[in-house]
Amino acid sequence: MIENDNRNVPEEERAVKGLESIIDNYDLSRYELSPEEKAREEMIRQRIRDRRRAAERRRIKRNRTLALIVAVVLVFILCRGCYASYRKKRDEKQAKAKATESKVVKPTVHEEDTDSSQDEQQPEVGHKIQNVDGLTYVDGILIVNKTYPLPRDYAPGISTAAQAAFDDMTAAAFNDGLYLYVNSGYRSYDEQYMLYYNYALSRGVAEADRVSSRPGHSEHQSGLCFDVNSTDFSFSDTAEARWLAAHCADYGFIIRFPKGKEAITGYEYESWHIRYVGVDIAKEITSKGLCLEEYLGVTSNYDDSPDGVSQQQLAEEMGVTVDDPNGGTETDAESEDSAYYDEGYESQVQ
Ligand code: ZN
Repeated sequence: MIENDNRNVPEEERAVKGLESIIDNYDLSRYELSPEEKAREEMIRQRIRDRRRAAERRRIKRNRTLALIVAVVLVFILCRGCYASYRKKRDEKQAKAKATESKVVKPTVHEEDTDSSQDEQQPEVGHKIQNVDGLTYVDGILIVNKTYPLPRDYAPGISTAAQAAFDDMTAAAFNDGLYLYVNSGYRSYDEQYMLYYNYALSRGVAEADRVSSRPGHSEHQSGLCFDVNSTDFSFSDTAEARWLAAHCADYGFIIRFPKGKEAITGYEYESWHIRYVGVDIAKEITSKGLCLEEYLGVTSNYDDSPDGVSQQQLAEEMGVTVDDPNGGTETDAESEDSAYYDEGYESQVQ
Protein backbone atom coordinates (compact mmCIF):
# COMPACT_ATOMS: atom_id res chain seq x y z
CA MET A 1 0.00 0.00 0.00
CA ILE A 2 2.79 2.37 0.94
CA GLU A 3 4.74 1.56 -2.16
CA ASN A 4 1.72 2.21 -4.26
CA ASP A 5 1.37 5.67 -2.72
CA ASN A 6 4.99 6.56 -3.38
CA ARG A 7 4.52 5.67 -6.95
CA ASN A 8 1.43 7.81 -7.37
CA VAL A 9 2.69 11.04 -5.75
CA PRO A 10 4.90 12.31 -8.54
CA GLU A 11 2.01 11.87 -10.97
CA GLU A 12 -0.33 14.00 -8.86
CA GLU A 13 2.28 16.63 -8.30
CA ARG A 14 2.82 16.93 -11.95
CA ALA A 15 -0.87 17.33 -12.58
CA VAL A 16 -1.12 20.13 -9.98
CA LYS A 17 1.93 21.95 -11.27
CA GLY A 18 0.52 21.75 -14.78
CA LEU A 19 -2.75 23.32 -13.65
CA GLU A 20 -0.86 26.03 -11.81
CA SER A 21 1.15 26.94 -14.82
CA ILE A 22 -2.04 27.12 -16.88
CA ILE A 23 -3.54 29.53 -14.36
CA ASP A 24 -0.32 31.57 -14.22
CA ASN A 25 -0.24 31.93 -17.96
CA TYR A 26 -3.90 32.74 -18.20
CA ASP A 27 -4.35 36.21 -19.54
CA LEU A 28 -6.65 37.82 -16.98
CA SER A 29 -6.41 41.13 -18.78
CA ARG A 30 -8.79 39.77 -21.35
CA TYR A 31 -11.52 39.78 -18.64
CA GLU A 32 -10.93 43.26 -17.29
CA LEU A 33 -13.97 45.51 -17.75
CA SER A 34 -13.90 48.52 -19.97
CA PRO A 35 -14.81 51.88 -18.29
CA GLU A 36 -18.27 51.75 -19.91
CA GLU A 37 -18.86 48.31 -18.54
CA LYS A 38 -17.60 49.40 -15.11
CA ALA A 39 -20.00 52.34 -15.14
CA ARG A 40 -22.81 50.01 -16.17
CA GLU A 41 -21.92 47.60 -13.41
CA GLU A 42 -21.82 50.44 -10.89
CA MET A 43 -25.18 51.61 -12.14
CA ILE A 44 -26.64 48.14 -11.69
CA ARG A 45 -25.15 47.91 -8.19
CA GLN A 46 -26.63 51.31 -7.39
CA ARG A 47 -30.03 50.16 -8.63
CA ILE A 48 -29.82 47.06 -6.47
CA ARG A 49 -28.91 49.21 -3.45
CA ASP A 50 -31.78 51.56 -4.21
CA ARG A 51 -34.19 48.69 -4.49
CA ARG A 52 -33.00 47.25 -1.22
CA ARG A 53 -33.39 50.60 0.49
CA ALA A 54 -36.87 51.05 -0.97
CA ALA A 55 -37.82 47.56 0.16
CA GLU A 56 -36.51 48.37 3.65
CA ARG A 57 -38.50 51.60 3.72
CA ARG A 58 -41.63 49.75 2.63
CA ARG A 59 -41.07 47.16 5.34
CA ILE A 60 -40.72 49.88 8.02
CA LYS A 61 -43.79 51.65 6.68
CA ARG A 62 -45.80 48.43 6.72
CA ASN A 63 -44.73 47.71 10.29
CA ARG A 64 -45.65 51.23 11.37
CA THR A 65 -49.09 50.93 9.77
CA LEU A 66 -49.61 47.58 11.44
CA ALA A 67 -48.57 49.00 14.83
CA LEU A 68 -50.95 51.94 14.32
CA ILE A 69 -53.86 49.64 13.48
CA VAL A 70 -53.14 47.51 16.55
CA ALA A 71 -52.98 50.64 18.73
CA VAL A 72 -56.29 51.96 17.32
CA VAL A 73 -57.98 48.61 17.87
CA LEU A 74 -56.62 48.45 21.42
CA VAL A 75 -57.83 51.99 22.20
CA PHE A 76 -61.23 51.16 20.69
CA ILE A 77 -61.57 48.02 22.81
CA LEU A 78 -60.46 49.93 25.91
CA CYS A 79 -62.94 52.76 25.27
CA ARG A 80 -65.76 50.31 24.68
CA GLY A 81 -64.95 48.64 27.96
CA CYS A 82 -64.85 51.97 29.77
CA TYR A 83 -68.11 53.15 28.19
CA ALA A 84 -69.83 49.87 29.01
CA SER A 85 -68.83 50.12 32.66
CA TYR A 86 -69.81 53.82 32.71
CA ARG A 87 -73.22 52.96 31.26
CA LYS A 88 -73.67 50.17 33.74
CA LYS A 89 -72.84 52.52 36.63
CA ARG A 90 -75.13 55.23 35.27
CA ASP A 91 -78.01 52.81 34.85
CA GLU A 92 -77.49 51.52 38.37
CA LYS A 93 -77.42 55.09 39.67
CA GLN A 94 -80.63 55.98 37.81
CA ALA A 95 -82.33 52.86 39.07
CA LYS A 96 -81.23 53.72 42.60
CA ALA A 97 -82.42 57.33 42.25
CA LYS A 98 -85.78 56.09 40.96
CA ALA A 99 -86.05 53.69 43.86
CA THR A 100 -85.31 56.41 46.44
CA GLU A 101 -87.63 58.84 44.65
CA SER A 102 -90.56 56.47 44.86
CA LYS A 103 -89.62 55.89 48.47
CA VAL A 104 -89.68 59.62 49.17
CA VAL A 105 -92.88 60.32 47.28
CA LYS A 106 -95.07 57.78 49.04
CA PRO A 107 -94.96 59.22 52.54
CA THR A 108 -95.49 62.77 51.28
CA VAL A 109 -99.21 62.28 50.88
CA HIS A 110 -100.09 62.24 54.51
CA GLU A 111 -103.18 60.82 56.08
CA GLU A 112 -103.32 64.04 58.06
CA ASP A 113 -105.32 65.68 55.30
CA THR A 114 -107.83 62.88 54.94
CA ASP A 115 -109.99 64.35 57.67
CA SER A 116 -110.35 67.57 55.71
CA SER A 117 -113.15 68.01 53.22
CA GLN A 118 -110.69 68.11 50.31
CA ASP A 119 -110.21 64.36 50.02
CA GLU A 120 -111.46 64.04 46.46
CA GLN A 121 -108.99 66.72 45.37
CA GLN A 122 -105.95 65.13 46.95
CA PRO A 123 -103.44 64.46 44.19
CA GLU A 124 -102.45 60.86 43.66
CA VAL A 125 -99.17 59.36 44.71
CA GLY A 126 -96.45 59.73 42.08
CA HIS A 127 -95.19 63.27 42.38
CA LYS A 128 -91.52 63.67 41.69
CA ILE A 129 -89.76 65.09 44.73
CA GLN A 130 -86.19 66.30 44.33
CA ASN A 131 -83.87 67.79 46.89
CA VAL A 132 -81.30 70.06 45.29
CA ASP A 133 -78.81 71.70 47.69
CA GLY A 134 -81.40 71.72 50.46
CA LEU A 135 -84.21 73.06 48.24
CA THR A 136 -87.24 70.85 47.67
CA TYR A 137 -88.77 70.67 44.22
CA VAL A 138 -92.02 68.80 43.62
CA ASP A 139 -92.65 68.14 39.93
CA GLY A 140 -90.04 70.82 39.28
CA ILE A 141 -91.78 73.44 41.43
CA LEU A 142 -89.91 74.89 44.41
CA ILE A 143 -91.99 74.33 47.53
CA VAL A 144 -91.53 76.44 50.65
CA ASN A 145 -93.94 76.03 53.55
CA LYS A 146 -94.07 74.74 57.11
CA THR A 147 -92.93 71.27 56.04
CA TYR A 148 -90.28 72.32 53.52
CA PRO A 149 -87.72 74.94 54.61
CA LEU A 150 -85.06 76.77 52.62
CA PRO A 151 -81.41 76.61 53.65
CA ARG A 152 -80.23 79.54 55.74
CA ASP A 153 -77.73 80.64 53.06
CA TYR A 154 -80.27 80.53 50.23
CA ALA A 155 -80.50 84.19 49.23
CA PRO A 156 -81.49 84.51 45.56
CA GLY A 157 -83.13 87.95 45.77
CA ILE A 158 -86.31 88.49 43.80
CA SER A 159 -86.68 86.24 40.75
CA THR A 160 -86.29 88.17 37.49
CA ALA A 161 -89.03 86.07 35.87
CA ALA A 162 -91.40 86.78 38.77
CA GLN A 163 -90.55 90.49 38.68
CA ALA A 164 -91.09 90.70 34.89
CA ALA A 165 -94.45 88.93 35.25
CA PHE A 166 -95.42 91.27 38.06
CA ASP A 167 -94.52 94.32 35.96
CA ASP A 168 -96.68 93.04 33.06
CA MET A 169 -99.53 92.45 35.50
CA THR A 170 -99.35 95.89 37.08
CA ALA A 171 -99.35 97.46 33.60
CA ALA A 172 -102.53 95.53 32.73
CA ALA A 173 -104.15 96.49 36.05
CA PHE A 174 -103.23 100.11 35.40
CA ASN A 175 -105.07 99.91 32.05
CA ASP A 176 -108.09 98.78 34.04
CA GLY A 177 -107.69 101.80 36.30
CA LEU A 178 -106.17 99.97 39.27
CA TYR A 179 -102.88 100.53 40.98
CA LEU A 180 -100.96 97.45 42.15
CA TYR A 181 -97.59 97.67 43.83
CA VAL A 182 -95.16 95.53 45.80
CA ASN A 183 -95.69 95.79 49.52
CA SER A 184 -93.11 93.10 50.27
CA GLY A 185 -91.09 90.89 47.93
CA TYR A 186 -87.88 89.11 48.76
CA ARG A 187 -87.00 88.62 52.41
CA SER A 188 -83.72 87.08 53.57
CA TYR A 189 -83.45 84.35 56.19
CA ASP A 190 -82.02 86.79 58.72
CA GLU A 191 -84.78 89.34 58.09
CA GLN A 192 -87.37 86.61 58.61
CA TYR A 193 -85.51 85.49 61.72
CA MET A 194 -85.68 88.99 63.19
CA LEU A 195 -89.39 89.34 62.32
CA TYR A 196 -90.21 86.01 63.91
CA TYR A 197 -87.90 86.54 66.86
CA ASN A 198 -89.42 89.92 67.68
CA TYR A 199 -92.87 88.37 67.89
CA ALA A 200 -91.61 85.39 69.86
CA LEU A 201 -89.78 87.66 72.28
CA SER A 202 -92.69 89.93 73.04
CA ARG A 203 -95.63 87.54 72.56
CA GLY A 204 -94.18 84.03 72.85
CA VAL A 205 -93.51 81.33 70.23
CA ALA A 206 -97.14 80.15 70.11
CA GLU A 207 -98.26 83.60 69.05
CA ALA A 208 -95.28 84.07 66.72
CA ASP A 209 -96.29 80.86 64.91
CA ARG A 210 -99.73 82.34 64.40
CA VAL A 211 -98.63 85.62 62.88
CA SER A 212 -95.38 84.78 61.15
CA SER A 213 -93.34 82.06 59.48
CA ARG A 214 -90.37 80.52 61.20
CA PRO A 215 -87.04 81.50 59.60
CA GLY A 216 -86.35 79.34 56.56
CA HIS A 217 -90.05 78.59 56.14
CA SER A 218 -91.18 81.89 54.62
CA GLU A 219 -91.91 81.75 50.90
CA HIS A 220 -90.59 85.31 50.70
CA GLN A 221 -87.05 83.90 51.03
CA SER A 222 -87.57 82.10 47.70
CA GLY A 223 -87.85 85.40 45.78
CA LEU A 224 -90.88 84.00 43.99
CA CYS A 225 -93.72 85.77 45.79
CA PHE A 226 -95.08 89.24 46.44
CA ASP A 227 -97.36 90.84 48.95
CA VAL A 228 -99.45 93.18 46.83
CA ASN A 229 -100.57 96.54 48.16
CA SER A 230 -101.87 95.96 51.66
CA THR A 231 -101.22 93.06 54.01
CA ASP A 232 -104.34 93.78 55.96
CA PHE A 233 -107.26 91.33 55.92
CA SER A 234 -109.51 94.16 54.76
CA PHE A 235 -107.60 94.16 51.44
CA SER A 236 -109.77 91.26 50.24
CA ASP A 237 -112.74 93.63 49.96
CA THR A 238 -111.00 95.98 47.52
CA ALA A 239 -111.31 96.19 43.73
CA GLU A 240 -107.56 95.58 43.54
CA ALA A 241 -107.86 92.27 45.41
CA ARG A 242 -110.72 91.14 43.19
CA TRP A 243 -108.78 92.07 40.06
CA LEU A 244 -105.73 90.22 41.42
CA ALA A 245 -107.74 87.06 42.13
CA ALA A 246 -109.32 87.18 38.66
CA HIS A 247 -106.21 87.95 36.61
CA CYS A 248 -103.01 86.95 38.42
CA ALA A 249 -102.99 83.43 36.90
CA ASP A 250 -102.77 85.02 33.43
CA TYR A 251 -99.36 86.33 34.51
CA GLY A 252 -98.20 83.12 36.21
CA PHE A 253 -99.25 83.87 39.80
CA ILE A 254 -101.52 82.03 42.22
CA ILE A 255 -103.20 83.29 45.38
CA ARG A 256 -100.94 81.21 47.58
CA PHE A 257 -103.12 80.89 50.69
CA PRO A 258 -106.68 80.70 49.37
CA LYS A 259 -109.85 80.89 51.37
CA GLY A 260 -111.05 77.51 52.60
CA LYS A 261 -107.61 75.87 52.36
CA GLU A 262 -106.30 77.05 55.72
CA ALA A 263 -106.00 73.51 57.10
CA ILE A 264 -103.87 72.45 54.12
CA THR A 265 -101.68 75.49 53.55
CA GLY A 266 -101.23 76.00 57.29
CA TYR A 267 -102.01 79.72 56.91
CA GLU A 268 -105.00 82.05 56.98
CA TYR A 269 -106.44 83.32 53.71
CA GLU A 270 -104.15 86.03 52.37
CA SER A 271 -105.66 87.89 49.44
CA TRP A 272 -102.44 89.84 48.92
CA HIS A 273 -99.81 87.09 48.85
CA ILE A 274 -99.19 85.82 45.30
CA ARG A 275 -96.69 83.15 44.28
CA TYR A 276 -95.12 82.86 40.83
CA VAL A 277 -95.36 79.37 39.28
CA GLY A 278 -95.57 80.17 35.56
CA VAL A 279 -98.68 80.78 33.45
CA ASP A 280 -99.65 77.19 32.58
CA ILE A 281 -99.42 75.85 36.13
CA ALA A 282 -101.01 78.96 37.63
CA LYS A 283 -104.00 78.60 35.29
CA GLU A 284 -104.31 74.89 36.04
CA ILE A 285 -104.15 75.35 39.83
CA THR A 286 -106.59 78.27 39.76
CA SER A 287 -109.11 76.64 37.40
CA LYS A 288 -109.13 73.47 39.53
CA GLY A 289 -109.61 75.47 42.70
CA LEU A 290 -106.57 73.93 44.38
CA CYS A 291 -103.92 75.29 46.69
CA LEU A 292 -100.27 74.56 45.91
CA GLU A 293 -100.03 71.85 48.59
CA GLU A 294 -102.96 69.99 47.07
CA TYR A 295 -101.61 70.39 43.55
CA LEU A 296 -98.23 68.98 44.58
CA GLY A 297 -99.52 66.43 47.08
CA VAL A 298 -97.53 67.75 50.04
CA THR A 299 -98.26 68.88 53.59
CA SER A 300 -97.51 72.14 55.36
CA ASN A 301 -96.79 71.29 58.95
CA TYR A 302 -93.79 71.98 61.17
CA ASP A 303 -94.15 68.47 62.62
CA ASP A 304 -93.37 67.02 59.17
CA SER A 305 -90.38 69.28 58.65
CA PRO A 306 -86.78 68.01 58.79
CA ASP A 307 -85.96 70.97 61.08
CA GLY A 308 -89.32 70.72 62.83
CA VAL A 309 -89.04 71.32 66.56
CA SER A 310 -91.73 71.76 69.16
CA GLN A 311 -92.68 75.25 70.24
CA GLN A 312 -91.11 74.46 73.63
CA GLN A 313 -87.82 73.49 71.99
CA LEU A 314 -87.83 76.52 69.69
CA ALA A 315 -88.53 78.82 72.64
CA GLU A 316 -85.55 77.36 74.48
CA GLU A 317 -83.31 77.71 71.41
CA MET A 318 -84.33 81.34 70.92
CA GLY A 319 -84.27 82.19 74.60
CA VAL A 320 -87.93 83.20 74.64
CA THR A 321 -91.17 81.81 76.08
CA VAL A 322 -93.85 79.67 74.44
CA ASP A 323 -96.78 81.62 75.84
CA ASP A 324 -97.22 85.35 75.93
CA PRO A 325 -94.89 86.58 78.70
CA ASN A 326 -97.40 89.37 79.39
CA GLY A 327 -100.40 87.04 79.36
CA GLY A 328 -101.93 88.91 76.40
CA THR A 329 -104.93 87.83 74.40
CA GLU A 330 -104.54 85.46 71.46
CA THR A 331 -105.69 86.10 67.94
CA ASP A 332 -106.87 83.34 65.65
CA ALA A 333 -104.98 84.60 62.65
CA GLU A 334 -102.15 82.46 61.41
CA SER A 335 -100.17 84.24 58.76
CA GLU A 336 -97.21 83.87 56.47
CA ASP A 337 -96.87 87.62 56.60
CA SER A 338 -96.14 89.11 59.92
CA ALA A 339 -96.13 92.47 58.12
CA TYR A 340 -99.91 92.67 58.10
CA TYR A 341 -99.86 92.06 61.79
CA ASP A 342 -97.33 94.83 62.39
CA GLU A 343 -99.93 97.56 62.19
CA GLY A 344 -102.31 95.85 64.56
CA TYR A 345 -99.58 94.80 66.89
CA GLU A 346 -97.91 98.16 66.98
CA SER A 347 -101.18 99.92 67.64
CA GLN A 348 -101.63 97.59 70.55
CA VAL A 349 -98.18 98.47 71.86
CA GLN A 350 -98.65 102.18 71.46
ZN1 ZN B 1 -96.47 87.25 51.83
